Amino acid sequence: MAEKLLEVRELTAGFHTERGFLRAVDRVSLSLEAGQTLCVVGESGSGKSVTSLAIMRLLDYSGGTIAGGEIRFRGVDLTELPQREVMRIRGNRLTMVFQDPISALNPVFTAGDQIAESLRVHKGMSPKAAWRKAVDMLRLVGIPDPEMRAGQYPHEMSGGMCQRVVIAMALACDPELIIADEPTTALDVTVQAQILELLQRLKRELRTSILLITHDMGVAAEMADRIAVMYAGAVVEEGTAAAIFERPRHPYTIGLLRSIPGTTGERGTELYTIKGGIPRIEQLPGGCRFHPRCPYAMENCAREEPPLLEAADGHRSACWLTDMPEVMT
Ligand code: SF4
Repeated sequence: MAEKLLEVRELTAGFHTERGFLRAVDRVSLSLEAGQTLCVVGESGSGKSVTSLAIMRLLDYSGGTIAGGEIRFRGVDLTELPQREVMRIRGNRLTMVFQDPISALNPVFTAGDQIAESLRVHKGMSPKAAWRKAVDMLRLVGIPDPEMRAGQYPHEMSGGMCQRVVIAMALACDPELIIADEPTTALDVTVQAQILELLQRLKRELRTSILLITHDMGVAAEMADRIAVMYAGAVVEEGTAAAIFERPRHPYTIGLLRSIPGTTGERGTELYTIKGGIPRIEQLPGGCRFHPRCPYAMENCAREEPPLLEAADGHRSACWLTDMPEVMT
């Protein structure tokens, strides 16, 4: 059995408000093996980003709290570590690529300085050696004339180039895991494809594992070894990418797959949309949290919450309907 790099068990996280604790993430369990890509997929508000911030132990900085569960990184529970210990791991063995490259970069430092800083802090490199490695990293991520670009500021670069710099920063210390939160959403379509290709290439060449957060099933199809589908703070389906695309089990996953442009057939046909919207976390419906939008909802769905159970080998789904019609095939 391959080694588990990351194991999230029953993670609960959210925000303390005047109305009490709002659970943005409710007993989420995920796992990722070394060298693999796990895509966490769902609409905005499904808890994907809160999950990734919790794994990075950055939730405290956004006003959130981890209220329960474990986040085991190479067997060590990150929730138990003091922040100073976490800071030795974060930015070094565990790094993050944020959605908006412009705000992820510091406008008053050059690209080279920003990459070199983590090498000086985490690897103890001299300023000269760190700068040389920063230039190498810019070359690795496909930035032309890296010696010149290393001396430039973020405002002198395009959005796509800034995202390459952010990826170079994330990779500089040879991390074991990169968490990429919607890394292409802020970019043009053609640049998006280049960045996804770059992540795939780097994963192959450097054997870095990737936890990719995306709302786009098309992106998951390109990138994922395994997929976890989140809805309203919970994982509702999880399995290999092949199993999820060939035989999706949960009606929400089926809806997401049917909503991919170009997979529903003839030209001129209307694109499928899942009716309604994702509920606010303070107004979650009882029973199955997807029931108000589910075309297959039955009477007990509004009363009892279905557990995430194994539907086939390593493929889990949280739905009372065990024999889902094969609508996608
Ligand atoms: Fe739909 Fe019921 Fe399954 Fe929920 S449990 S997804 S409402 S069929």
